[in-house]
Amino acid sequence: MSSAAGSLERPDRSGRIVSAPAESQSVVAIAADVSAGRRSAVAVAEEALARIAASDAAIGAFLEVTAPLALAEARTADARVAAGETLALAGVPLAIKDNMWVEGRTATCGSKILQGYRPPGDATAIARLRREGAIFIGRANMDEFAMGSSTENSAFQTTRNPWDRERIPGGSSGGSAAAVASRMVPGGLGSDTGGSIRQPAACCGIVGFKPTYGRVSRYGLVAFASSLDQIGPLTVSVADAARLYRVLSGRDPLDSTTASEDVGDPEGALERGVAGTKVGFLAEADVEGLDPEVAANLAEARRALADAGADVRDVSVPRAPAAIAIYYVVASAEASSNLARFDGVRYGPRADESSLLSLYVESRTAGFGPEVKRRILLGTFALSAGYYDAYYGRAMRARQLLLEDFERAFEEVDVIACPTIPSPAFRLGEKVDDPLTMYLSDIFTVPASLAGLPAISVPSGLSRGNLPLGIQIMGRRFDEETVFAVARAFERQVDFPDEIPPGVKLS
Ligand code: GLN
Repeated sequence: MSSAAGSLERPDRSGRIVSAPAESQSVVAIAADVSAGRRSAVAVAEEALARIAASDAAIGAFLEVTAPLALAEARTADARVAAGETLALAGVPLAIKDNMWVEGRTATCGSKILQGYRPPGDATAIARLRREGAIFIGRANMDEFAMGSSTENSAFQTTRNPWDRERIPGGSSGGSAAAVASRMVPGGLGSDTGGSIRQPAACCGIVGFKPTYGRVSRYGLVAFASSLDQIGPLTVSVADAARLYRVLSGRDPLDSTTASEDVGDPEGALERGVAGTKVGFLAEADVEGLDPEVAANLAEARRALADAGADVRDVSVPRAPAAIAIYYVVASAEASSNLARFDGVRYGPRADESSLLSLYVESRTAGFGPEVKRRILLGTFALSAGYYDAYYGRAMRARQLLLEDFERAFEEVDVIACPTIPSPAFRLGEKVDDPLTMYLSDIFTVPASLAGLPAISVPSGLSRGNLPLGIQIMGRRFDEETVFAVARAFERQVDFPDEIPPGVKLS
C-alpha cells in the first residue's frame, strides 16, 4: 500500500523497486496539492476523465461519466481555493454508487424500474463531500438495489475485476471498487448492508470501510434494508478512507437514525499504533471448507499484527455462524417493505394497463430483475400473518443474541479480526444461478452489519493466482478510531503491490 509519508519508491514482493504512481493520486495528496495551488481541480478531473476514457471500456465500472458536471464542480472548487477556503477534499474526483442522490444526475440503483429517475438534490453524504470540494465524476455500477455480491445483478452492464477481467469485482458496490482499484479515481462511495463495501474492496485489493450504523446519514441513499444500510468509502489506503469518513460522518436532522456521538479524530488515530491493543481473531472464522490460501493468509496477518505490537489472541462470537440466516430474513423483510413504493405510479417506466392492479403488476414484473423479485417474495413471506413470528420475529430475537455475543467479546478485546472473503474473487457467471452459494460470500461481513459495528477491509496479500485477499477488522460501536489505528498498523506491515493492477491500460 502507499505509505503515508515520503518515499515514491518501495520494494515490491519480489524485492524489485517499482514506482508508485498511486502516491500522487491519493485522496489526501490531491486535496493537499489542490489546496496549495500546486495542481488545479480542473486538471485533476481532466486526468481522471482521461484515465476513464482509456480504461473503462475494459472494466465497465461506470454506468455514466458526468464529465461536464464534474468539470463545472472542479471549476467551483478551484474558485473556492483561490478565494482562500480550506477544503478537506479539494478537487478529489470520486465514483459514486448509483443508489445515491447527486445533484443534476439520475440515480437508477442499477435497476430498470428507476431508469431516468432524477432525485430532488444531493444526499446528505454527497452534500458533505461537496462542501469540502469533492468532484463527482460518474455513477458507478452496482447490483440492482444493492442485492448481490458480484455486481452481476445490475440491469445494465457487467463490471470486471481489474486483477483478472474474467472475474467478478465483488458487490454490490463493484463499480466503485473497480474504478478505484484500476486507479481511474482515487476514491469512491459504496453502501454496505451486509458487506457491499468490504467484500468488493477485498476482491479488488483496496480498502473499504463501513462505519457504525448511524454514523453516516442515509438521507438520499435509496433504501434496501433500513436497519442495516450505511454509506462508506472505498479507497487505495487506510488514510484516504479515514479522510472521507471524517467528512461523511455526523448527525443529520434529515435522518433521525443518525447518532450525535462524537466522531473524534479518525485521522489522528492513524498513527496511534497497536502497542497493547487487544486484537481478537474470530474463532468461528475457522469454518469448514475455508479456502486454505485464505487460512494461511489469516495466519500471516495474525503474525504481522503481533509483530506490530498488538496483543493477539482468539475470541469467540458463538452466534456468528447464524448471521447469514438471520440476515436474509431481516434484510429481505425490510427490502420487501422499502421496495413497495416502486409501483409504476410514482417512479420509473409505467406499464400501459387499464386497471390499477395490472399497472402495478406489469410495471414491477418488467422493472425488477430476478434477484430483487426473489428478495421481495422471501421478505413478504417472512412478514406474512401466520409466519411472522416463526421467521421475522425469530430472526430479530437471534439478531439480539448475536449483538450480546459481540458485547461480551468486546469486554475481552478491542477489535475483532477475520478474513473479509472466504475465497478470492470468483469467475463471472460462476454463481449467478446458485443464490445460496452467492449468499455465502458474505459469511464474514454480515455479522458486523447485524450488530451495527464499524468494520474495515484492508488488503492482506495475493493468492497464488495473483488475486487480492483482505482482512476485516471490526470495532466497538462508535469506536472507529481504534479500527483505523489497527488497520493502518496492519497496512504498514503488509507488502501489497502498489502498481496498477495488471491488464489495465493507463493513459
Ligand atoms: N451481498 C449481500 C446481499 O446481497 C449484501 C449486499 C449489501 O451489502 N448491499 O444482500
